[in-house]
Amino acid sequence: MARIVVIGAGVGGLAAAARLAVTGHEVTVLERADTVGGKLGRHRHDTPEGSWCFDTGPSLVTLPQVFHDLFEATGAKLDEYLDLVPLDPIVRHVFPGGGPTLDSCADPAEFTARVGAAFGDRAAADWQRLWRRAGRVWAASHRDVLRRTVDSPRDLAALAWRLGDLAAIGPGRSLRGLGRRHLSDPRLRMLLDRYATYTGADPRRAPAALVAVPYAELAYGGWYLRGGLGTLADALLSRCLDLGVVVRTGATVTRIDAAGGRVHGVRVAGAAAPVPADVVVANVDALTVYRDLLPTPRRLAALTDRSLAGFVLLLGVRGDSGLAHHTVFFPRDHDAEFDAVFGDPGRGVRARPAPDPTVFVTVADDPAVRPAGHEAWFVLVNAARHGTAAGAVDWRRPGLAEAYADRILDVLAERGVDVRDRLVFREIRTPADLDAATGAPGGAIYGTAGGLLRPANRGPAAGLWLVGGSSHPGGGLPMVTLSAEIVADAIGPAW
Ligand SMILES: Cc1cc2nc3c(=O)[nH]c(=O)nc-3n(C[C@H](O)[C@H](O)[C@H](O)COP(=O)(O)OP(=O)(O)OC[C@H]3O[C@@H](n4cnc5c(N)ncnc54)[C@H](O)[C@@H]3O)c2cc1C
Repeated sequence: MARIVVIGAGVGGLAAAARLAVTGHEVTVLERADTVGGKLGRHRHDTPEGSWCFDTGPSLVTLPQVFHDLFEATGAKLDEYLDLVPLDPIVRHVFPGGGPTLDSCADPAEFTARVGAAFGDRAAADWQRLWRRAGRVWAASHRDVLRRTVDSPRDLAALAWRLGDLAAIGPGRSLRGLGRRHLSDPRLRMLLDRYATYTGADPRRAPAALVAVPYAELAYGGWYLRGGLGTLADALLSRCLDLGVVVRTGATVTRIDAAGGRVHGVRVAGAAAPVPADVVVANVDALTVYRDLLPTPRRLAALTDRSLAGFVLLLGVRGDSGLAHHTVFFPRDHDAEFDAVFGDPGRGVRARPAPDPTVFVTVADDPAVRPAGHEAWFVLVNAARHGTAAGAVDWRRPGLAEAYADRILDVLAERGVDVRDRLVFREIRTPADLDAATGAPGGAIYGTAGGLLRPANRGPAAGLWLVGGSSHPGGGLPMVTLSAEIVADAIGPAW
């Protein structure tokens, strides 16, 4: 039996803790915030109308099997803890200039038919061809990448990918390039581009292999959790406690002790003595681990681009808007948005709040999250990271957040959904707020943006492991849950 300290109670940290505890280890989770869940955050707002409960992070569960597997592996049934609700449409896509909308769904034949009905037979045939290719990429990455450690470019190169897999993955090609090649309709290209941002990346630079992301969503479905996605954090905490994990909130780890190349424990702010550990699992952003928590800062070799961040509005709205659970309102000029969000110092383009962004609205038809006769809106816009460098925006600049919130409500009104005179209240969450709340540097949602090679799960000292969205295999709820499985398997059982 090893004494294991998990730093951070995000989904990856809690999932790793539960898996390690069930295999006989003595596990302590140290979380700096007062609550667990990390980016899977919640916010409650009380008004005379009643209580509003917002998810401030994820709004869509994909790959539900990953969560079923986690609960099963820890001796429980997911359905006893969570109420998974399948969504159809998963997302309603609204394109610029009016015209037909497109509802995504978990039935590939039905979705192709919807593409055909909206954009014509050629678009449907294009989509079908891309879908077949996406299926091959998904199968190859699921088999070779998503369930095992990938520590270096050499590991990636050594994978026994078949020639057909490689042709489908298209190494060297971008997701944008793949869309240009396969999809003649600009609206379908927009839809495909959007999936790069689900991993934090710019589709013009993101690898074509990310075509596996829409495949995973549309093949296995998109789901809501009744009561809000935050119920997943409750469920994971409950599993951990049942398995004897000690979870300490309000405990900020300031240092990982790793003299002689092996971990010995961690230091907690304000505590006189270190917490001893044979193994440390860091659920903190990989950049923070390497730069701030090791006795000697280390360069993070695999760190490429940082992920985009998000600007969030939480809106209490009177009445019924008739919106789908998720709606994406696309802009006229997608590239202008990506230029603003990512910046490009090479071309002299500074990052800035995108004046005409894609707007993603979530409205759950769930009485548990809003007062009767009202709606709780979660509005998410892709945003540059918080900071003062060329590729970032200083979101703390006085007046900026309020002005940008006004702008987003104006954009929504221009796209046909004017909610300005139905607001009971609005709250704003900038990338700077996410950074402060969860320690995600700059408020980057997904840590390192979406390539196949991310910071390895194996840390730079013996007994140190990295779990969560900034390390392999990447961000998003199912990926961080898979990273927990990979790390727990690599550490092995106590017996
Ligand atoms: C706005 C938004 C929308 C999203 N939408 C989706 C979606 O629809 N679907 C989806 O699947 N994913 C989505 N995601 C991504 C998803 O939320 C994350 O990938 C996932 O929750 C990250 O989990 P994690 O394990 O990496 O830990 P994190 O959530 O990053 O948690 C890390 C934890 O470590 C703690 N910590 C940090 N430093 C210390 C320290 N020094 N000592 C102790 N504790 C520390 C933090 O407080 C935090 O609790 C979204 C994220 C955001 C922000």
